[in-house]
Amino acid sequence: MRFVTYAATNDGDRAGADRVGPDQVGPDRVGVINGDLIHALPDGTSLIELLGSTLRQAGRRALAEPADVVAPADVTLKAPLPRPPSIRDCLCFLDHIRACRKAVGDTGPLERTWYQIPAFYFANTASVIGPHDEVPISPGSAWFDFELEIAAVIGTAGQDLTPQQAEGHIAGYTLFCDWSARDLQGLEGQLKIGQAKGKDGASTLGQWLVTPDELPFDLDGRLALQVRAEVNGELVGTGRTESMDWTFGEVISYASRGVELRPGDVFGSGTVPGCCLLEHLDFGDLAAFRGWLKDGDVVSLRADGLGEVRQTVRASAPPHPLAARPDPTAQPRRPRVNPAASAMPYTKGLHQVGDGVWAWLLPDGGYGWSNAGLIAGDGASLLVDTLYDLPLTAEMLSGMRPVTDRHPLRQAVLTHANGDHTHGGQLLPGSVRVIAAEGTAHEMHTEMVPELTAALQVMDLGPTLTPYLRDRFGQFDFGGIRLRAPDRTFDRRLALDVGGREVQLLNLGPAHTEADTVVHIPDAGVLFAGDLLFIGCTPIVWSGPLANWIAACDAMISLGATTVVPGHGPVTDANGIRAVRDYFGHIVEQADAAYAKGLDFQEAAFGIDLAEYAGWLDTERVVVNVYRRYREIHPDQPVLDRFALFGLMAEWDRRRQSAAVGPR
Ligand SMILES: [Zn+2]
Repeated sequence: MRFVTYAATNDGDRAGADRVGPDQVGPDRVGVINGDLIHALPDGTSLIELLGSTLRQAGRRALAEPADVVAPADVTLKAPLPRPPSIRDCLCFLDHIRACRKAVGDTGPLERTWYQIPAFYFANTASVIGPHDEVPISPGSAWFDFELEIAAVIGTAGQDLTPQQAEGHIAGYTLFCDWSARDLQGLEGQLKIGQAKGKDGASTLGQWLVTPDELPFDLDGRLALQVRAEVNGELVGTGRTESMDWTFGEVISYASRGVELRPGDVFGSGTVPGCCLLEHLDFGDLAAFRGWLKDGDVVSLRADGLGEVRQTVRASAPPHPLAARPDPTAQPRRPRVNPAASAMPYTKGLHQVGDGVWAWLLPDGGYGWSNAGLIAGDGASLLVDTLYDLPLTAEMLSGMRPVTDRHPLRQAVLTHANGDHTHGGQLLPGSVRVIAAEGTAHEMHTEMVPELTAALQVMDLGPTLTPYLRDRFGQFDFGGIRLRAPDRTFDRRLALDVGGREVQLLNLGPAHTEADTVVHIPDAGVLFAGDLLFIGCTPIVWSGPLANWIAACDAMISLGATTVVPGHGPVTDANGIRAVRDYFGHIVEQADAAYAKGLDFQEAAFGIDLAEYAGWLDTERVVVNVYRRYREIHPDQPVLDRFALFGLMAEWDRRRQSAAVGPR
């Protein structure tokens, strides 16, 4: 038999103009599925009271003499047990844990303990939701995921059960979704005391509680169901429940040691292998990853005989922040102050830099603290770049409204593909035409999925890299970002009309990235340099060659702009461009000399004399710059991925910091 808990939906006259508020929902009712209809049990019955010996009898009575007959479409299906006494979520499929570990780069064998005892944790009974309810994303999570599981529900109480006895205490089975905030889970996992906020946002049960006699089992007594998980109609994974390493009988027996299990207690099977997003993450092939769940995504989970849960994911408000406690073992942190002098105050917000031209500045110019621009013509304006996350971009767009209310945004230029210039694109109205160099559009497709950047905030990457990344990337909110691709591309140059003003786009890359566009407004004498200029902070060569960046500096100087807005750091002029050009001249000279002496790239980077550039922020980026130069001199240098380069930068920073503090 298939039991449901449901509530009447008093939807009144849906077409009525005077209808206000959400649907009124009546008290919970219990019913049995009969064909396409629900045969109701008497008013006031709850499923939990019927579990055990009276369940089938009550079901038979309802089939013969229903208290009411309704169509499922006319009611709201709830979790069969809207508030179970307890939920233990188990890990019966060891291939799930193997695949999750592989996804986050842990390729070692499972500890022997996994083969000795079954794993489970207690989930939150207060956050159980029904099979069609909306699912709130856990506040602060950028990595929201689902897990397709089967749940067994205890019918009669029992304690110290054998696995065989335990099977007999199961009243029925239902689909179970363990909604999981992977980033929060990763962070809390470092505390090694079990699941917490990463898991307690929501658990779905539904749509039916199905008695065991209706379901197929294999010869070993394992449930034999085919399952299938989809997001927005696209297959994520399929699997079969016979592949359980630990059976329900075994995990229930284990859990019953010394404690009484009560009617309605829920046991989740753990994820059927392949039926969640995390198992499909591969940091070596990020383009293949579909991304985490976002507002509006529809998740459908199905199992033979258990029906379907189908739910829409919804964004939620950000969490209330908590201040970190002081770490008594932490090294004193050098204050981060951008040392560059500027004629214009270097403060967060909108600054007019020319006639009808503004810069949005975001100190201190380190990773993610980037500048943007606004150029207004007659009744139209052009945005230069968005910011690293949605809150920062929203704040900027609202700060620009005094200008854009009078001269609406019509176009936006993305100077290059890095997230700190592109992540905010989705907040631009659809009518705004987004323009970028072809190389930038291509690189946006192949860069890390935006929310994966949250890895830098939550993954444990060792004692040196972890604190470095938390320090540099810890303050951004990578949730909910959907990359907006450019609507129009160009190759080397493009002239735009912005309300009657001429604006020149010049792609001077590859240098910082595959394509680096500068935006020149000749009538105002202003140049937006994008990340071809870092002022008071160290530039970083992701693409190169370095000679191209030096040539780009000369090309920028030749434009004759009197005011220059860098991608990072305070507003400058031609002298700021010269400083960056001379920095690269110095790096080339030092790296070439080290190479001639026979030093390897690490020896060259770690021993380099930064001369007058030692006072800039983020000096450790010299590691990447020397690496690029070495690859230019000698292309057979081993290729290092971004994580490896970040690891070396963190090590460089740690060594120089301890050298600066000196022996005590
Ligand atoms: Zn940048």
